[in-house]
Amino acid sequence: MTRPFNFSAGPATLPEEVLQQAAAEMLDWHGSGMSVMEMSHRGKEFVSIYEHAEADFRDLMAVPKHFKILFMQGGGLAENAIVPLNLSRGTSTDFVVTGSWSDKSQKEARKYCDVQIAATNEHSGHTNLPPPASWKLRRDASYVHLCTNETIHGVEFQELPNLKALGSDAPLVMDFSSHVASRAVDWSRVGLAFAGAQKNLGPAGLTLVVVREDLLGHALPICPSAFDYKTVADNHSMYNTPPTYAIYIAGLTFQWLKRQHEGGASGIAAIENRNRAKAELLYNAIDHSGFYVNRVSKDCRSRMNVPFFLRDESRNEAFLAGAKERGLLQLKGHKSVGGMRASIYNAMPLAGVAALVDYLQEFEQRRA
Ligand SMILES: *Cc1c(COP(=O)(O)O)cnc(C)c1O
Repeated sequence: MTRPFNFSAGPATLPEEVLQQAAAEMLDWHGSGMSVMEMSHRGKEFVSIYEHAEADFRDLMAVPKHFKILFMQGGGLAENAIVPLNLSRGTSTDFVVTGSWSDKSQKEARKYCDVQIAATNEHSGHTNLPPPASWKLRRDASYVHLCTNETIHGVEFQELPNLKALGSDAPLVMDFSSHVASRAVDWSRVGLAFAGAQKNLGPAGLTLVVVREDLLGHALPICPSAFDYKTVADNHSMYNTPPTYAIYIAGLTFQWLKRQHEGGASGIAAIENRNRAKAELLYNAIDHSGFYVNRVSKDCRSRMNVPFFLRDESRNEAFLAGAKERGLLQLKGHKSVGGMRASIYNAMPLAGVAALVDYLQEFEQRRA
């Protein structure tokens, strides 16, 4: 059976090999007589799944030893509260607003601390990024929040800012939900990173948090125990029952990532090469047509989420129907932006992007 190509922004397509392995192991994981869903999270079988998943992610993303990797629940939106509950100490925080997700984050944080907008790209309709040198950072901020890939607006930081060089000692907090594990991360610039799993890692229900050890242990007294990073870290993400099946699938995805080879590279470098090639193919097709348009500045276009518009928007419904007929699913843009969006996460093969590009050209020619 060949499956259609699924361009959903999330929950999103997963590597077919991962789904097949999960299917094969569904009823009996490694001779245990149990599905992973049925295991005690404290039993030796699940503990080994958990430990492999953590070690594989650390290895894959080169996460230094002084960072903890936490497997939590609540998604990206819960982190919008959990981060200020743990890191703000009830004082001041700086936010860089570059699209819907960072805007949501700053609004939620206002419940717990004093929020300042250090920079925004709102005037551009969230189609560019304010240069770090222009950010108005406060000396006493407890952290600086960024969304490093804005899933809805298709804007991505190609490089993490060096806050120290900007005169700030505050840790950088990044929401990397929609491009986690799609490229290397310079951890020397990061204090905390969080990601919902359902874009690039596995099923919804799991939230990955990577946090520098010195940031643990400062939660506000009102912080729920299950969301206190120190409690979670001290209990190896098992203070309460973690999302066991989602952790298992994420672990299979990490192993899949480690097996990838592309352009002489392997692992994250390989997937990064492939993601660059996929994005280039799609943006080139859009830019070279008079029929489609992407409005994001070239220097900050997302490799993961590609919003685009038909210049003749009366053709939107016909475009989507034709795409579906060809096995190109979930291309409709987010309701707040309109138009189309192709999410081309790690698990989307180059062949999927090539099929979309063929369709873009065919649909345009049919109209001419
Ligand atoms: C999807 C997404 C979220 C929201 O995650 P939930 O799991 O729905 O809470 C947050 N931030 C970004 C950048 C996202 O893409």
